[in-house]
Amino acid sequence: MTDAPPPPYRWFDLQVERTERISPSLVRVTFGGDRLGDMVTGGRDQRFKLFLPRPGQDAPVLPDDLGPGWYAQWRTQDPAVRAVMRSYTVRELRREPDELDVDFVQHGEHGQHGEHGEHGKGTGHSGPASHWSRTARPGDRVAILGPVAEDNGGVDFQPPAGTDWVLVTADESALPAAAGILSWLPAGTPAKVWIEVAHPGDVQDLPTAADADITWLIRGNAGDRPVLDAVRSAALPSGNPYAWIAGESGTIRALRRHLVGDRGFDRRAVTFTGYWRHGATEEDLLAELG
Ligand SMILES: Cc1cc2nc3c(=O)[nH]c(=O)nc-3n(C[C@H](O)[C@H](O)[C@H](O)COP(=O)(O)OP(=O)(O)OC[C@H]3O[C@@H](n4cnc5c(N)ncnc54)[C@H](O)[C@@H]3O)c2cc1C
Repeated sequence: MTDAPPPPYRWFDLQVERTERISPSLVRVTFGGDRLGDMVTGGRDQRFKLFLPRPGQDAPVLPDDLGPGWYAQWRTQDPAVRAVMRSYTVRELRREPDELDVDFVQHGEHGQHGEHGEHGKGTGHSGPASHWSRTARPGDRVAILGPVAEDNGGVDFQPPAGTDWVLVTADESALPAAAGILSWLPAGTPAKVWIEVAHPGDVQDLPTAADADITWLIRGNAGDRPVLDAVRSAALPSGNPYAWIAGESGTIRALRRHLVGDRGFDRRAVTFTGYWRHGATEEDLLAELG
């Protein structure tokens, strides 16, 4: 009998080192922690679970049992008390010192209950994670269920053998993942990339060795889907494509339909992930999964 392999994820108690408003829609929170040196990343769109305290709490209230049954226990904890659980992406994991950067979208910041923001481009309702990042201070405590093995099941960008070119679309929430994918792509890989953001100031440098054609699209009004319009009207390269598309669920569904239905992409060569959905919190989305 062989021993079961150790789980690829582990709990980390981290604290905020510093925060920086890197663009109108994004706040970068840099985390540190004693054992952060054990965290590793598979790169690309590496995701993890973030656990935040609620207002008035010093630290997130986690299940007593942090073993494999933690999720079942989290679900039975009082929703008014238990940690806020959200999905985020490793923007960068550094050594000496061990630091983790996470970029948080500032949605709903300027408007409430769906009102448009000061630029007439409101990005919906605010949420606890977005708000937490905006008000985070050095020393604030969080917990993370993060990867401790490169092959950890939390990286979805997996182009199959025989891929000739790559298509990537993202909004602000998937911009950290798109940045990770671009920095990972092998030199010379042809890539068509569309990134949709709220403000011209959200455009950032995305270093890559790929042969990437990156188009930035600025949303005019809430509800616009410029990325969908841009992909629909684009001339695409020939050869075997692999698509990775992430962002608002409705937009992603429409994009996937277009790529598979109108453009003839093999559905197995399209990785699509709804990172958020209009009108639904992450708890609502989890509840739908049962
Ligand atoms: C695998 C994965 C990786 C992700 N990585 C990142 C990341 O690195 N950075 C990041 O910022 N987000 C990321 N997200 C998205 C993030 O988890 C959601 O946006 C989440 O809903 C934010 O939680 P919240 O508490 O701020 O809002 P919630 O309480 O979940 O939602 C409150 C309201 O805000 C709306 N809303 C939620 N997100 C957005 C948004 N981005 N724009 C406009 N309205 C929104 C909802 O529709 C809802 O009406 C990722 C999601 C997944 C699945």
